[in-house]
Amino acid sequence: MEQNYIQSQNPKYQLYQKKYQKQYWLKNKEKKLLYWKLYYQNPQNIEKRKNYQKLYFQKNKEKRRQQQKIIYLKIKNDKLLWAEHLKIGRKSAFRCYNRKKEIVFNAYGNKCNCCGENIKEFLTIDHVNNDGKIHRLSVKAGFALFNWAIKNNFPSSLQLLCWNCNMAKRWTGICPHELYKP
Ligand SMILES: [Zn+2]
Ligand SMILES: [Zn+2]
Repeated sequence: MEQNYIQSQNPKYQLYQKKYQKQYWLKNKEKKLLYWKLYYQNPQNIEKRKNYQKLYFQKNKEKRRQQQKIIYLKIKNDKLLWAEHLKIGRKSAFRCYNRKKEIVFNAYGNKCNCCGENIKEFLTIDHVNNDGKIHRLSVKAGFALFNWAIKNNFPSSLQLLCWNCNMAKRWTGICPHELYKP
């Protein structure tokens, strides 16, 4: 067991292993992808996987914390490494944010509920009853709001509006579009 561990820490061996793994992956890519696609078509498997991940997360909490501590001690005094570390963290957070945003925007129809604007960059989440201020006290905005919407099965107390309609509604309580509707 220990012998194996020592061998696995050898850089030469690691390089060889990486190369071999890549070759293996390229050879069996199609087959593996198809296998996972079929696997995830079964909702039971998705549940199983989720439970396993949860368990794994809890089991390795202490280990992960120690690893993070080691990384922290290593890069603490190096400005360049620290900047790189932050960059990676920001990138992955941004990816996660965008993924959640897409789920929520899709669920709410991907367009402004008032004027029909459908360019993603112009859209934002709006509280239908203008109770966003109170809601934000308990849920917060942004990422947490997306999570809340997903968890609560996309309630009708939220809607998509473009920033124009959203701001107008925020100031006057009603979007001017409504006034000029035939
Ligand atoms: Zn609009
Ligand atoms: Zn409007």
